Amino acid sequence: MKKLFSIFGNPVSHSRSPLMHNSVFKHLGYDACYTRTHLIDGTRLKETFFSLDLSGANVTVPHKEAAFNACDEVRGFAKKAGVVNTLVNEDGKLIGYNTDADGFMYAIDEFQEIKKVLILGAGGTAKALAARFKEDDINVSVLNRSQARLSYFEELGCSCFTWKDFKLETYDLVVNTTSAGLKDEELPAPKELIQDMLNATEYVADAIYGKITPFLQIAKEKNIIYKDGADMLLGQGVLANELFVNFELAKEDIKKEMQKSFTI
Ligand code: NDP
Repeated sequence: MKKLFSIFGNPVSHSRSPLMHNSVFKHLGYDACYTRTHLIDGTRLKETFFSLDLSGANVTVPHKEAAFNACDEVRGFAKKAGVVNTLVNEDGKLIGYNTDADGFMYAIDEFQEIKKVLILGAGGTAKALAARFKEDDINVSVLNRSQARLSYFEELGCSCFTWKDFKLETYDLVVNTTSAGLKDEELPAPKELIQDMLNATEYVADAIYGKITPFLQIAKEKNIIYKDGADMLLGQGVLANELFVNFELAKEDIKKEMQKSFTI
C-alpha cells in the first residue's frame, strides 16, 4: 500500500519538503507520496497525523515543541533538545526524532573552526542547535526579543540576552533561527545590534532558505561569508528520509535525488 507522509506547519505553503521527499520516492521507486498540512493548533498534531493515516511527517514552525509533547516516544538527540522535526508511525505509536541539528552541522562543515556562536532566536531550531553546539563544546550566546524562552538556554550553560541587555562579544558564527524575514522583511533584532554583531563575526548563517533575508542582505553588503538555510534543509531532509524509508535506500542516493529537486 502506498505510504503517505506530510509536513505540518503554519505557514507551510513555502515548504520545499514535499518536492524533496517526492523526488526521492519517485526516482528511487519507493511507493510513497508526501503532502503538506496547514496546522494552526499544535495540540491537534497527533490526532491529525493519525486521522490522515500517515506513515511519517516533518514538523516546521511553530509546532516543533508541540511535536515533542505529542510523541509516544522520543529518540536520540531530540530528547535532549526537547524539539522534534521528524515523526514516524511505528505500529501505531508516534516516534519523534530531531534531524535539524545534524542537518545544520552538515551545512556549516565548510566553515573553519567554529568555537563561539551567537544564536538569534530561542525557538525550536535555536534549542536544537544550542544543544548540538554544546555537545561539541562550542561556546554559545543566545539573543531573543523576549525573555520567556531563554530559561532552557540558561540551564544549558549559554549566555542569554534580550535586545535590552545584549552584550556584544566576538563570534566565529552568527546564526539567525528566528522567523523574521521568512514571510516579511523584518530583521531578527534592531538594526544597530545587527550591524554591531555582524562587524564582530567571521561567518553568518540563516535557517531561512530560498531567499536573501534582510539579515543576510546586511551580511552580504559587509562581504561576510554567509549561507542561507538550503544546505541545512538538505541535511535534515536526507536524515529524515532515511527514517521514513527505514534505511531501505542508500543515503548517497537520497542525497543525490533531493539535491536535484533544489533546481526545480
Ligand atoms: P519557532 O516558532 O519555534 O521560534 C521562532 C523564534 O523566532 C522565537 O524565538 C521568536 O521569538 C523569534 N521571532 C519570531 N518572529 C520574530 C521577529 N519578527 N523578530 C525577532 N524574533 C522573532 O520557530 P522554529 O525554530 O521552528 O523555526 C525558525 C525558523 O527557522 C523558521 O523561519 C524556519 O523556517 C527555519 N528553519 C529552517 C530549517 C531548514 O532546514 N533550513 C529547519 C528548521 C527551521 P519569541 O520567543 O520572542 O516569540
